[in-house]
Order: sequence, then structure tokens, then C-alpha cells
Amino acid sequence: MSEKTIFEKIIDRELPADIVHEDDICICFRDINPQAPTHLLVVPKKRIVRIAESSPEDQTILGHLMLIVNKVAHQEDFAEDGFRTVINNGPHGGEEVPHLHLHILAGRQMLWPPG
Ligand code: 5GP
Repeated sequence: MSEKTIFEKIIDRELPADIVHEDDICICFRDINPQAPTHLLVVPKKRIVRIAESSPEDQTILGHLMLIVNKVAHQEDFAEDGFRTVINNGPHGGEEVPHLHLHILAGRQMLWPPG
């Protein structure tokens, strides 16, 4: 695998981050460039590059990420008002960091269609 991604450096505490949840499978921290009043990233500790490169053996990890979205939505108190979860995949998806991550955006009215 190529050199560490920014997210692996955060997982390994080589870069600082405002962490709101961590367990054996994933970490959740605040995005450095928030696109909403609350903008969190849920990142698996295993470097799955992107959803289009995930495999059936990742099923438990992928399911866990969804449950952590639910957990932090309640923990950070935006579950009731609502929120949006986004996965950017590849060039057309606007992906910048090649390490799977779920964005959670909350605290304002989201628009549709997305940009
Ligand atoms: P992508 O475009 O790949 O879906 O999203 C990458 C996200 O990572 C962006 O929203 C960007 O602001 C965020 N990000 C990039 N570098 C850092 C960093 O060093 N710390 C944190 N907390 N977020 C970062």
C-alpha cells in the first residue's frame, strides 16, 4: 500500500483531530473544512480505498460504519432534526482522500439535488 493517508495519520495520532468517537473498527472526527454547522467524518481503521474497492469481506466494517453514524447522530444531538450522510467516490464523486469515509452533515437545511 502507498504512503499513509491523512486519515491514517489521524488514526495513528500523527496528526491532531477533534475526535468524537473511536472504537476498534473506526474513528469519527470533525472535518477540518466544515460544510455545515456540524460536519463529521466516519473512517474505518482498515484502509478500504473507496466504496467501489470494498469487498464482501468488508461487510462487517461497512455495517459498523452505519451504526456509528446512528450513534454519533444521537450523541451530538442532531438525530431528531435530521442530517445527511455522503460518500464521495472517485473523480466524479469529488473524492479527495483515497481512504473510505462517510461524511455526516448536520445543523442546517440540506438541498436537493446536491452540487
Ligand atoms: P472527500 O472529498 O475525499 O470526500 O472528503 C475529504 C474530507 O477530508 C474533506 O471534507 C476535507 O475537508 C477533510 N480533510 C482533509 N484533510 C483533513 C485533515 O487533516 N483533518 C480533518 N479533520 N479533515 C480533513
